[in-house]
Amino acid sequence: MVKLFDAHCHLQDPRIFKMTTQLIRTALDSGVVHFAVNGVSEKDWHLVMQMSDQYPCIIPCFGVHPWYVAERTPNWLNTLKECFEATPSAAVGEIGLDKGSRGRQIDFMDQVEIFRQQLELAKELNRPATIHCVRAFGDLLQIMKSVGPFPAGVILHSFLGSAEMVPGLAELGAYFSFSGFLMSMKESKAKRMLKAVPAERILLETDAPDALPKSNNLDSLFLVEGDASVPEDIQAQGENSTSNDGSPANNPAEEARDTSTLSKEILNHPANIHNILSYVASLLEMTKEELADISYGNAMRLFSYEGSKVLKEGRSSHKFRLQESKLFSLQDGMNSASSMTQTLSGELADGQRKLLALAGANPKAVNPLVTQLGNGPFGVHEKIEAPLDPTKELSRMISEHKYEEAFTAALQSM
Ligand SMILES: [Zn+2]
Repeated sequence: MVKLFDAHCHLQDPRIFKMTTQLIRTALDSGVVHFAVNGVSEKDWHLVMQMSDQYPCIIPCFGVHPWYVAERTPNWLNTLKECFEATPSAAVGEIGLDKGSRGRQIDFMDQVEIFRQQLELAKELNRPATIHCVRAFGDLLQIMKSVGPFPAGVILHSFLGSAEMVPGLAELGAYFSFSGFLMSMKESKAKRMLKAVPAERILLETDAPDALPKSNNLDSLFLVEGDASVPEDIQAQGENSTSNDGSPANNPAEEARDTSTLSKEILNHPANIHNILSYVASLLEMTKEELADISYGNAMRLFSYEGSKVLKEGRSSHKFRLQESKLFSLQDGMNSASSMTQTLSGELADGQRKLLALAGANPKAVNPLVTQLGNGPFGVHEKIEAPLDPTKELSRMISEHKYEEAFTAALQSM
């Protein structure tokens, strides 16, 4: 059974709150190990906290979502800081910017101010922040550039931007998280975008109870009937028309969501992350197992900040993570080299993915090319009199278009 990490969901949502025990049990049984549960306003932070105390599998996240910016109290920032003090295992989210149909009703200057303050807080706390961005990527990039970089990472949840947006955001520390909304994007465009995302930055999420994946076969999905006792205005608070959509004008993906044939009461289940895994893996031409390994490893690394619940689990595989991070240093070297040869970036991404897949398949492997990068514990090459700088070596090979040689050098040493 594959292990999965739901990098973004709202299990505290009033529409499903009464059913969470059952939802979590079913998802855990299917292989979902952790759920990053994102608060959206001061009103639900206590629920997130309560669920985090109750379930070891829940990673709590606190934030003011752009839609609820106008509802904040004058003391909101202090209350938020108190939540983090009381909950050392928490990350920041959901925060963001929204110029979509619903976001347009909220003063944008207010959104920017509240977003910036929370982004700065995330940086100060050294925790990852989960970002919702709809039709505001220009503003997002500008703010991220002025507040960043983000060594603890930021998560662009339900990302639906273009392939062209990916490198600039990745450079600032962004992870790209994919939900059922991706299925509403034109397949060729989704494929191109996915292939532009560095393998070590891919995450999977359900955004449950929203973003029900599309499927011709409803039997393949877990469906949740919304709580009928919840008043209608709360029922309508879901994120059904939101996701990280970067397009400036009418977006077919957004329309497709509105014309969903399912009634609004049918909600998403966190166990449906398997449908997203299958879809993203098929577009990336990977096996489900490969993508599950990669995305799970990414989420575990990202959520291993000081105080996090997954840190302990992560520490037990510390040696693996050390090697993994060294592999990523190698990748960074290759990435900078690839900017010199942009036209060939597709081939590179492919090669990097294979490299990563290989590393994943062989966790005990030590790459001597990489161990030279740091004064790591391996020291296998201390006897070499004039060690070559492996990053420079690879950059040289790449700039000379010696791709085969570069990859052979990297792979042979594994
Ligand atoms: Zn969300």
